[in-house]
Amino acid sequence: MKDICYLCGKLIQHEELSDDHVVPKQIIKRKQPKTKGFDYAGVLPSHEKCNNQFGPEKCCQKAMKLIEVLHDDNCFLKRQHRDNPNINILAINSACLSDFSRQDLKYFKFIDVRNKGLSEWSTLSFFTDKTKTDPIRQSLFVSFSVLAKSAAALLISRRLKNIPKQWRIIAIPYYGKGNTFDLDDIAGNTKPFDIGVKVWLYPANNGNWWITYKACDIVVFMFFWLSGISSDIEEIVPFRPSAQCFEFQSTCLIDLIDYQWKQI
Ligand SMILES: [Zn+2]
Repeated sequence: MKDICYLCGKLIQHEELSDDHVVPKQIIKRKQPKTKGFDYAGVLPSHEKCNNQFGPEKCCQKAMKLIEVLHDDNCFLKRQHRDNPNINILAINSACLSDFSRQDLKYFKFIDVRNKGLSEWSTLSFFTDKTKTDPIRQSLFVSFSVLAKSAAALLISRRLKNIPKQWRIIAIPYYGKGNTFDLDDIAGNTKPFDIGVKVWLYPANNGNWWITYKACDIVVFMFFWLSGISSDIEEIVPFRPSAQCFEFQSTCLIDLIDYQWKQI
């Protein structure tokens, strides 16, 4: 495994080698690697190009913050345009996104109307050249991709002998439970990677894995459906009644970049 890039699954020549952090630096605020009481997951070999390509990690913190904001009734309003009900408007209180830079707002394709009068941005013509976006999905998908990559890296570095040739990951998000959520009772005592950053790995049948990732007040349950046995999907049934389930499927993890997770 030493010479294989875990992101694309191909051989690494010496000059292309780069160390990729198993838990992204962006979600660890403490000093790395060693701090008493915290776990450290180290690095995995990757191509420098593959490592650098994983831009979503830079936006992960903001994506998770956005998910939090979009679950806070004091932060947003949903309205349909009075003259065209097909235009759905999601208005966000800018105070809730105070640590978002202009670039962050651009990344999530927000239209900044703070310096515009209501008469300007409420007309139909204002929307004609604007791209339709869905910040809820975009922030979810960015978070899924970054956490799934890190969960897969943990699995490779701590539990698997080979890098899987086929990845199927089902992500099931939970919100607002981050502060108190803990799975130690079920999955065993687990050291955090940072305050509020904890990952529980537990084996399922047929070589599949459950990985629960808690970071920034978001909890994502991930079922690593590595067996490919169709009946194994039954594992997610207990979540089904209320939860939304999204699937990633590919031969390599690098495809997580900008992946449109499929709701199943
Ligand atoms: Zn690679």
